[in-house]
Amino acid sequence: MQELYKEIVLDHWQRPRNQGELPGAEIEEHINNPLCGDEVTVYANLRDGNVAEVSFTGRGCSISQASASMMTDQLLGKSYEEAEAEVERFKAMMVGKEDFPEAEDLAALKGVIKYPSRIKCATLAWIAFQKGLLEQQKA
Ligand code: ZN
Repeated sequence: MQELYKEIVLDHWQRPRNQGELPGAEIEEHINNPLCGDEVTVYANLRDGNVAEVSFTGRGCSISQASASMMTDQLLGKSYEEAEAEVERFKAMMVGKEDFPEAEDLAALKGVIKYPSRIKCATLAWIAFQKGLLEQQKA
């Protein structure tokens, strides 16, 4: 299990980045993971086709919350298309279809792949963001 809780994961868990509500945000998407009891709400504001603000609130296991924190770092300032591509890339990495570049914080989540029941924890926030983005585009 030690592999699961790398220092970077613990750091994001203990000092989450971009945590808190964004009142009136264009994107507000709440999802939960009944398998583990995790909950995440992702907030984002898009401006000029970019992710101008992104934050999250939630509770649950360290993997779910650390991954949400890493996601906000990763997506902030990205264009729609880039953000969508990042989500797809992360989901692909979590099923072993793409590699995690070691330079990225996200590589710390690589160990989760070996614990299939935890993959949902890691992808929770990303799926919430993607869902919110899709709904935003439909509106
Ligand atoms: Zn979990």
